[in-house]
Amino acid sequence: MADAPAVPPAPRSSALHRLVDGFDRFRGQHFEQDHDLYDALLDGQRPEVMIIACSDSRTDPAIITGAKPGELFVIRNVAALVPRHEADHRPRGTSAAIEFGVKALGVRHIIVLGHSFCAGVRCLLEHDHGGARFEFVSDWVNIAREVRDEMDGLVTDADRAVIARRAEQATVLTSLRHLATYPFIAEGIAAGRLALHGWYFHFGWGLLQAAQTPLGPFRQVDSGTPPAPAVGHADGAAPPPCPRAGRAAARRCDAPAPSIAPRHP
Ligand SMILES: [Zn+2]
Repeated sequence: MADAPAVPPAPRSSALHRLVDGFDRFRGQHFEQDHDLYDALLDGQRPEVMIIACSDSRTDPAIITGAKPGELFVIRNVAALVPRHEADHRPRGTSAAIEFGVKALGVRHIIVLGHSFCAGVRCLLEHDHGGARFEFVSDWVNIAREVRDEMDGLVTDADRAVIARRAEQATVLTSLRHLATYPFIAEGIAAGRLALHGWYFHFGWGLLQAAQTPLGPFRQVDSGTPPAPAVGHADGAAPPPCPRAGRAAARRCDAPAPSIAPRHP
């Protein structure tokens, strides 16, 4: 049997070289230095915070918050969207991750992290262009179609940048409202062990803003002071571990959704 032809070397990629070099730095500066942390994480994860963020390469939640391994349970998708609860047994990636974070990990805070200059929100607003260019994106961002409807109703001579920033924040609020449609989240809020936060990262200004209520407005986060949740609080007792959603867990999740106004101002 003849030898297999030699595999040509992969083309050099400065981007991939930077990633490999970065991993080497991570091993040297973190993994090999902080044995206690990584030994503890061998036993499992117990993050208190779930962040639902956009896939945008400029808004990595762990980087902008300086979080350590094990501190954040991160879900990322186009435009940081949360679909409404749908009990139709179809595969739903974001909903599955939310369920796992709440039921199995017992997170106490869920942060929806929007950002400025979001291409996903732009696709939502420019629905005609989106439909022509994308096979999947248009249907996905349509989760927040109420935001588009609201922005379409604004005066046409309004500054497009102002409308875009407003739509990005409105999309965060829409995701908060959709979160509250999940029975297990409504139950956690009602029990005082789960809080919802709407954050907005304006990387053009380097600012972090937080929704004051599920209807807004967003205000700048004061340095050193965690903002109050937009919905609920997490001052109650920590939830019991619920790694498998059996019948008992399903019964506990039958609580009605908290009342959150359907639209933001
Ligand atoms: Zn985005």
